[in-house]
Amino acid sequence: MANSYDVIVIGSGPGGYIAAIRAAQLGLKVAVVEREHLAGICSNWGCIPTKALLRSAEVLHLAEHAKNYGLTLEGKITPDLAAIVKRSRGIAERMNGGVGFLMKKNKVDVIWGEAKLTKPNEIVVAKTTKTIVQPQAPLPKNTLGEGTYTAKHIIIATGARPRALPGIEPDGKLIWTYFEAMNPDRMPKSLLVMGSGAIGIEFASFYRTLGVDVTVVELLPQVMPVEDAEISAFAKKQFDKQGMKIILDAKVTKVEKSADSVTAHVEKKDGSIEKITADRLISAVGVQGNIENLGLEALGVKTDRGCIVIDGYGKTNVPGVYAIGDVAGPPMLAHKAEHEAVICVEKIAGLPNVHPMDKLKIPGCTYCNPQVASVGLTEAKAKAEGRDIRVGRFPFVANGKAIALGEDQGMVKTIFDKKTGELLGAHLVGAEVTELIQGFVVAMNLETTEEDLMHTIFPHPTISETLKESVLDAYGRALNA
Ligand SMILES: Cc1cc2nc3c(=O)[nH]c(=O)nc-3n(C[C@H](O)[C@H](O)[C@H](O)COP(=O)(O)OP(=O)(O)OC[C@H]3O[C@@H](n4cnc5c(N)ncnc54)[C@H](O)[C@@H]3O)c2cc1C
Repeated sequence: MANSYDVIVIGSGPGGYIAAIRAAQLGLKVAVVEREHLAGICSNWGCIPTKALLRSAEVLHLAEHAKNYGLTLEGKITPDLAAIVKRSRGIAERMNGGVGFLMKKNKVDVIWGEAKLTKPNEIVVAKTTKTIVQPQAPLPKNTLGEGTYTAKHIIIATGARPRALPGIEPDGKLIWTYFEAMNPDRMPKSLLVMGSGAIGIEFASFYRTLGVDVTVVELLPQVMPVEDAEISAFAKKQFDKQGMKIILDAKVTKVEKSADSVTAHVEKKDGSIEKITADRLISAVGVQGNIENLGLEALGVKTDRGCIVIDGYGKTNVPGVYAIGDVAGPPMLAHKAEHEAVICVEKIAGLPNVHPMDKLKIPGCTYCNPQVASVGLTEAKAKAEGRDIRVGRFPFVANGKAIALGEDQGMVKTIFDKKTGELLGAHLVGAEVTELIQGFVVAMNLETTEEDLMHTIFPHPTISETLKESVLDAYGRALNA
């Protein structure tokens, strides 16, 4: 039947489109439904366009420090925000076009519109309720439209949207979410960023590098609260040096709006209130799953705190209905969504030896300056679990390549189980650590011990040598410090 599939995926973000491709590779007849933009938040409003913005900031930073490298650049280097944003939006368009190409190449039908489950194996696709803002590459020629479609298996990959605090709801003008922060109407002179998780601190870093007066308010006692406390403190010192104002252990309790600015009441740990006025406020207090209007209640699909409850293979409590990615809960990261997609589809296809998701081995990366990256247990969590541990540290100031690059502010921290030598966690801060962390992710996945890592040859000169030195340090054998 024309409207009948083995697998229908709702949502074409990194969870959805990867699920569709893997299903097609396994010989299943598959369609993906999308209501707003092929490639999801990640490529259109998340991972990729923010990295494009941050790259512009990085180039500006290097140009401003050209003298340190023996170069004289004539004239004042001024960021052109409109041009920076245009580049970022163009990259997003290229990404959604890329997913359209992949759908066609893999013979995945694209259904354009808003999907709702009517039965465990049936969806109705209606006209989208979304206003399309993001530039779109043309949709693949085989794109289908509104109607009823059936599938043996339906995978929900509808992603997430910004969370709002009551009374401090984003209005798109004075109080921004990541949408406006990524596509601003003009350069603000001052910004207040509420929340110092990855999204908040990346925008804080971007705008600060462009010369904006940035204040970050964080509820918890450290910036990037999920990170190891020592790494977080190291990063904060760098942010402080860059002139970012960071207020920890504090919350925004109230926001007064005027014509072109906001005044936030910031309540500190001691109960005192500081009033901070800024041109714009970025609300970066997390995201919540898109679980509404999908027909979940009628089918009895279990949800918890705004996300769909799944097992390690993406199965919900309703046979034939699955969920992956942000809508299936934290950590809300693109690579987690992609991996869940592959696990879920391979299980559906009946492949042997499909491993359930192991959340401890999902790396986390934040692309601020300096970058932060980690995998596994923090020192505090390892201790809380009662583990007997060995900790190694190695600073970038003792690494030749980092010094040559003018990037000597960073460190690597590794945590091992004292008895078994198992690598429990790795935490990095500094230049390019978001690329380097993968060495430790592979190591953890292969259940590597300190011995294996010590016997691995790292190329010289590279910043990656700090990874090995940190391992050596955990065993009192660091060679260059
Ligand atoms: C500013 C920002 C920066 C980020 N940076 C990073 C990063 O550096 N690294 C990282 O790993 N993660 C990052 N993320 C998170 C990442 O974007 C998400 O984890 C990822 O996009 C989740 O993928 P997904 O497939 O679950 O959902 P999404 O990418 O959100 O895609 C869901 C799709 O479903 C569609 N949809 C929803 N409901 C329906 C419906 N009823 N019918 C049809 N279609 C529907 C939506 O239109 C959307 O296209 C960032 C997020 C933001 C906001």
